[in-house]
Amino acid sequence: DSEDRNLEMGSSRPHALVMPFPAQGHVTPFVKIANLLAQRSIKITFLNTEAIQQRITTASPENCNNQDHIDLVTMPDGLGPPENARTSFGELVDSFAQTAPKYLEELILKINGSEGEKITWLIVDENMGWAVKVAKKLGIRQAVLWPCSAALRTLFVHIPQLIETGVIDAHGTPKEQKLVQISPTMPAINTDHFGWNCIGDLKEQQTVFHYMYSNHQIVKDADWLLCNSFDELEPTEFLLNPYVLPVGPLLSDSHPNGLAGNLWKEDSTCLEWLDQQPASSVIYVAFGSVAMFDERQFHELALGLELSNRPFLWVVRPDFVEGQVAYPDEGFQARVAARGRMVGWAPQQKVLAHPSIACFISHCGWNSTIEGLSSGVPFLCWPYFADQFLNQSYISDIWKIGLYLNADNEGIISRGEIINKIEELLTDKKVRDRVLRLKKMAKESASEGGSSMKNLNAFIDAMLQT
Ligand code: UDP
Repeated sequence: DSEDRNLEMGSSRPHALVMPFPAQGHVTPFVKIANLLAQRSIKITFLNTEAIQQRITTASPENCNNQDHIDLVTMPDGLGPPENARTSFGELVDSFAQTAPKYLEELILKINGSEGEKITWLIVDENMGWAVKVAKKLGIRQAVLWPCSAALRTLFVHIPQLIETGVIDAHGTPKEQKLVQISPTMPAINTDHFGWNCIGDLKEQQTVFHYMYSNHQIVKDADWLLCNSFDELEPTEFLLNPYVLPVGPLLSDSHPNGLAGNLWKEDSTCLEWLDQQPASSVIYVAFGSVAMFDERQFHELALGLELSNRPFLWVVRPDFVEGQVAYPDEGFQARVAARGRMVGWAPQQKVLAHPSIACFISHCGWNSTIEGLSSGVPFLCWPYFADQFLNQSYISDIWKIGLYLNADNEGIISRGEIINKIEELLTDKKVRDRVLRLKKMAKESASEGGSSMKNLNAFIDAMLQT
């Protein structure tokens, strides 16, 4: 095929600089697409911030710097030494907007001024859209990957109308709390749940709005716009975003030894434990990389899992609880050891694909959503912020492959609610059938001849021809 022809003819191969936004949920899909392209013999230079790369190297030292076709480079995020750990999202994007374009330009000029293969493509996160301008200036082709749903992108496309009709002001702040129906097939969105609105104080929300919206406007002029979703999952949304090509689900099954992208060290021992559990019996519980619990909610979830009387695998990141980890009592860990496992970070995709998994208690981050449905696992939805509420509505109201977990008057999801919803979900055969249908559609779409694979091949062909 064309890539072999290209190499046989001795022409220089494409070299892509791949650049995610510095957060786990963004690094993950970029690592997946980088591994996929490297497998097709495209040269990759993967660019993380120093802070992110330091975490990845600590989490998986064995998996860094020895990948075929992949070089690793870093740049500062402008926030001081990487050890400065957590800062606000607003500070991070502020710093990026000011300092990062210069660093990126210098980096590309340095690489392209050296002996090695010249960078000919930039594959960048929409949330780093400013980089498209740098690439254009340097005569490098640009592809933008949107790592969320097409529905979320539809929301961004409609920002001018939302401002015009007074739903939000020019800084993204809603005039009032209400449900907005942007397209008939898309879940209605509560204005309080607009992505930029659920983080920090008003000033931070406005900073994030302006950063995201200005990036959104810049990437309209990019050569390619890709999305980690698939046509059959959100058909109408892709009609509303005609220039966006779905290439998902981006999964990592096909390149087990590819580049690593975990910010925490993976505990794979849980896979052996899963091997010993009955088919479709285990509740998998994970809230992604950002969501945190307070002590009371942690306690309630622990009790809910214990009283469910089912095996469970629960990811408790080292920074998951604000304050002290509050187990229901001193005997809790010993009691659940017989039928439960807690790990700091799981190999999530492998866990979800394991036949012993029955359901996924999830915060509904987009990666978790697409990984879960591609594995045919139904959801109990526990969203926190950003697009997680939109994904929850997709899961529960549109695709009908999961249920809401409702908080009580004090804002707590109680042990009773958890137990009841687990039972309701696991006894509903229709949910199971629907999610298995989606699994099949996801697989077909990403297989040879499928809609996403055709798009990906078209993109790769374009890379090989330039
Ligand atoms: N993840 C993982 N192990 C865990 C928890 C999460 O590998 O124990 C991965 C998960 O597979 C997903 C990513 O981390 O690819 C989290 O992304 P998502 O969009 O779901 O949530 P976010 O972290 O952005 O809130």
